[in-house]
Amino acid sequence: MMPEVCLSIDVEDWYDGMEVLGEPTPKPAGARSGLEGLAEHLAARPSADGPAPRVTLFVVGNYVDTVADELAGLLASGHELASHGPDHGHLPEEYSGLVEWLRSGRCALEDRFQAPVKGFRSPRFDRPASIGLDGFRAAIAEAGFEYVSDIHVLGEASPVRELPVLSFHGFPMGGGSYQRLLPVPVVTGSVNRSDGPVVLYYHSYDFGATLPRVSSIRTLAAAKQLLGRSRVDKAFSAVLSRYGSKACVDVQR
Ligand SMILES: [Zn+2]
Repeated sequence: MMPEVCLSIDVEDWYDGMEVLGEPTPKPAGARSGLEGLAEHLAARPSADGPAPRVTLFVVGNYVDTVADELAGLLASGHELASHGPDHGHLPEEYSGLVEWLRSGRCALEDRFQAPVKGFRSPRFDRPASIGLDGFRAAIAEAGFEYVSDIHVLGEASPVRELPVLSFHGFPMGGGSYQRLLPVPVVTGSVNRSDGPVVLYYHSYDFGATLPRVSSIRTLAAAKQLLGRSRVDKAFSAVLSRYGSKACVDVQR
């Protein structure tokens, strides 16, 4: 049987991410976000079998204004809205501040789009070091979320559903950033060996966003973020046409 696959996209600004990493890079005026390219990939699914694909969009709150129209179009097509934090910075290390931070990320999206937001994914899969995974899960529940998609798993004690991204011997090959380095059959082979649902994740800027030329790279950190990016959307399309996609909110685990 084909495993259930959830394709998910972290909707964030590549330039903002580089700033958080301490590698500020000037953003050209009129830079494309990649969401238009994502919508084209979703509409161009070659296989007509099965239900229309639904993906989950984990959106950074402070990026919403920049991409509001593109997001509204994707939501109108039935895709799921979820939170990737109010910003892509570092998480508060104090419990009540963390709950407030999580809640503000959810409310920013719900207020803007009048759609329920049930899922959370942490920027860079970070977790607050001083709170512990059980405290982190409690904060996510208290902030009003129903599930978390993460690389960490607390297990049965978690008050929210956990939908971990696909990993293989600790290698998060469910990520587009890793799939750009792997042949597609390696990825699909790993999906086939998993008892689903299998959660894979990509980034909005992998679908034709305006990014710096590789020849302009000055630092190793920037190189790591850019090399092979143009291969990610092909991996995404290969997985989409083979398995389709369900929204994270629609699968049981
Ligand atoms: Zn992110």
